[in-house]
Amino acid sequence: MVLGVGCMVFEVFKPGKYSAEIAVIGGSGLYDPGIFEKTVELKIYTPYGEPSDYVIVGEVKGRRVAFLPRHGRGHRIPPHRINYRANIWALKQLGVKRVIAVSAVGSLRWDYRPGDFVVPDQFIDMTKKREYTFFEGGTVAHVSMADPFCEHLRRILVETGRSLGITVHDKGTYICIEGPRFSTRAESRVWKDVFKADIIGMTLVPEVVLACEAQLCYATLAMVTDYDVWAEKPVTAEEVARVMAENVEKAKKLLYEAIPRIPEEPDKKLCSCCESLRYAVI
Ligand SMILES: [Zn+2]
Repeated sequence: MVLGVGCMVFEVFKPGKYSAEIAVIGGSGLYDPGIFEKTVELKIYTPYGEPSDYVIVGEVKGRRVAFLPRHGRGHRIPPHRINYRANIWALKQLGVKRVIAVSAVGSLRWDYRPGDFVVPDQFIDMTKKREYTFFEGGTVAHVSMADPFCEHLRRILVETGRSLGITVHDKGTYICIEGPRFSTRAESRVWKDVFKADIIGMTLVPEVVLACEAQLCYATLAMVTDYDVWAEKPVTAEEVARVMAENVEKAKKLLYEAIPRIPEEPDKKLCSCCESLRYAVI
């Protein structure tokens, strides 16, 4: 079934007709990448239910790219209700091998300033009740999370951002809380001073874990919006909205430049993502 609305085409996905090699999962504020050509919007059904939205498939400088807004367009879905399994399954069905996940985060250190970007290399999971795995029984798999992010993709994001004059921190521990509420001051101080986390958000887990189980390269582009409440530095909604809008524009530029820099084959010295199940299945 094909429904044409303006220049956009909505279609129910059938394997084989459309594919993409790279995916961008958009976070808060990034609901439309605005950098794609020849787009089609696909309704994709999965065994886990519906993804957050239609998946946009198009081209960026000749590369086939998919885009999925994590919260749905218009920010309809809170972090704890996102169907992470359906989202990752839908991208895998499209043939995606590499995922760039964009997300807005709070900072737990003074030198990671609002407006800066962070490409984290570690995470701490403080979520409570999500669907964490594709392996529910039958086949049992314990994937390694020692180094949860694709080092090859991480380097491309860091180097591209810096080449554009964007402040990009190349290391950071992302603590993922359940939400949708923010942390108390006491919690925020624990994350910062006891856990030594650097940035805080609500959506990394289980998205990164499921991507690993699906043997996808995955890296996060985290955009610092504000200091978390440990800083006792009140921010206005206007300030947060302004920083977020500026971050989204920078992220679009970064993605537009980074996507063509991703080689078709990953660097095996930096990436073993496609072999994540080799030693995981019991
Ligand atoms: Zn990889």
